[in-house]
Amino acid sequence: MPIYDFKCDRCGHVFSVLTSLQERDKVACPQCQSKEVRQIISACSVRSGGGCSSSGGFDSGSWRGG
Ligand SMILES: [Zn+2]
Repeated sequence: MPIYDFKCDRCGHVFSVLTSLQERDKVACPQCQSKEVRQIISACSVRSGGGCSSSGGFDSGSWRGG
C-alpha cells in the first residue's frame, strides 16, 4: 500500500498514513480526530524538471547567468 501525506485543516498536524485508495477518504487526524484533512502532494513529484532538494526553498547560487 502506498503512503499518503496529509495535513489537518483543524490543528495543522501533518502525518503520513499507509492506506489504500479506497480508505483514503476515511482518514482522520490522529491528533484531533478531525476528518478535515487534505492530502499533501509531494513537492518532488509536482516539480517539473526533476530534482528534489532535501532542504526547502530554492537553490541560490546554482543558477548561472548567460
Ligand atoms: Zn488535527
